[in-house]
Amino acid sequence: MRHVAVIGSGPAGYYTAEGCQKQFGDAVRVDIIDRLPVPYGLIRTGVAPDHQSIKGVSRRYEATALSDNVRFVGNVTVGKDVTIPELLELYDAVVLATGAPHDRALGIAGDDLPGVIGSAAFVGWYNGHPDFAGLAPPLHGPGAVVVGAGNVALDVARILAKTQDEFGGSDIVGHALAHLGDHTIDTVTILARRGPHEIAMTPKELGELGHLVRAVPLVNPADLPPPEADAALEPGLRKSVAHLRDFATRTHDKPIRVVFDFFAIPVAIEGDGRVERVIVERTQIEDGRAIGTGETYAIPAGLVVSCIGYRTPPLDGVPYDDRLGRFANENGRIAPGLYAVGWARRGPTGTIGTNRPDGFMIAEHIAADVPEDAAKPGRAALDALFAARGVDVVTFRDWQRIDEAEIAHARTGSPREKFTAVDEMLAARSPG
Ligand code: NAP
Repeated sequence: MRHVAVIGSGPAGYYTAEGCQKQFGDAVRVDIIDRLPVPYGLIRTGVAPDHQSIKGVSRRYEATALSDNVRFVGNVTVGKDVTIPELLELYDAVVLATGAPHDRALGIAGDDLPGVIGSAAFVGWYNGHPDFAGLAPPLHGPGAVVVGAGNVALDVARILAKTQDEFGGSDIVGHALAHLGDHTIDTVTILARRGPHEIAMTPKELGELGHLVRAVPLVNPADLPPPEADAALEPGLRKSVAHLRDFATRTHDKPIRVVFDFFAIPVAIEGDGRVERVIVERTQIEDGRAIGTGETYAIPAGLVVSCIGYRTPPLDGVPYDDRLGRFANENGRIAPGLYAVGWARRGPTGTIGTNRPDGFMIAEHIAADVPEDAAKPGRAALDALFAARGVDVVTFRDWQRIDEAEIAHARTGSPREKFTAVDEMLAARSPG
């Protein structure tokens, strides 16, 4: 029997558990530990609330969670309720699937002004993450600036641009829906430091911007390379650029415009006690990199959301690569018995599905590294430790009750109304 502890119940965590089941059959016990009383990590608090079909992948994780050899151990903070050295004593393998929940800083003057918000916080706010439920971003300025040319920037721009009706069928939390309902922003500027051929936006997500009720996406035709240059692009990027070419033909005929500002990098954020404008420098591309040209201009804005990537928070005693913002590891191996998977291993890239081969690879490492007759005590010893410490563990059955309560509280047409406070989640465990 091999005992495995997975820290983090997002996609990387559940795919690791699934990989262990495939690898070891019934000869494994996997405990999936999470800081929150609710599972699924980024599926719940990262994937956009109007992308319900993507969130549907959690049903696959539920099948893993409901099998006898996998447990959900929620409401447990590693580093506080139990340490990594303690877990390494109890389990044959400890897998860090903690994701990358911290924002990379812009690192420019004024990036600490009220109104400058990282995408982890902004996305966490509209998705009901308890850490960000009280954010109340300022939405009454003339404009919003979204920094970055990836899919998260698209999510943020789209959420700002949609009407209340367009959130029908989504699980955006009530406080965010109400707050967005009376905003006055009429221009959302997406700042891309490189050009249309260097975006990290995928075609389906980019195409959605072209079909919004009250917002029109606009691209300056002068920013586009000659059409024949698109032939050299890989097919997905070529489709994305085709959307940008379409946006370059649009006119400003709706109340909100989403402006793609290419070759533009923020160099300072200014305002009297809060954001009032972003100072932007034009760039040109040299050897694939954006280099400032010295030409600057100001964009009025009351809100700046930086969508420039994420970092994994370090854990005491775990080797960390500060430059890359993730655990130091060799293909997932950190130290004997200690592994990293998903964004905590490779950084914040790829789709949800990318984490599946990642998780399966870690299961193969465990098979190679941990003998079949390993003698660590596993979950029984963890339960004893938590009982002695009075840790209030949330089980998968508890989560199912929380889930039922969220579904029961849903607005009409919405799949659920999420609890946004840990106390509310814990209270909803009681039957009835
Ligand atoms: P991303 O795809 O890596 O994009 C980050 C963007 O930020 C890039 O355009 C990058 O430009 C820019 N950037 C980085 N540092 C910057 C700086 N200092 N100043 C200005 N711009 C800067 O990251 P993401 O959007 O956070 O997405 C993370 C992952 O989740 C991606 O794999 C993404 O596809 C995925 N995701 C998928 C979906 C979906 O499928 N619906 C939704 C959300 C997220 P450079 O290219 O020049 O570095």
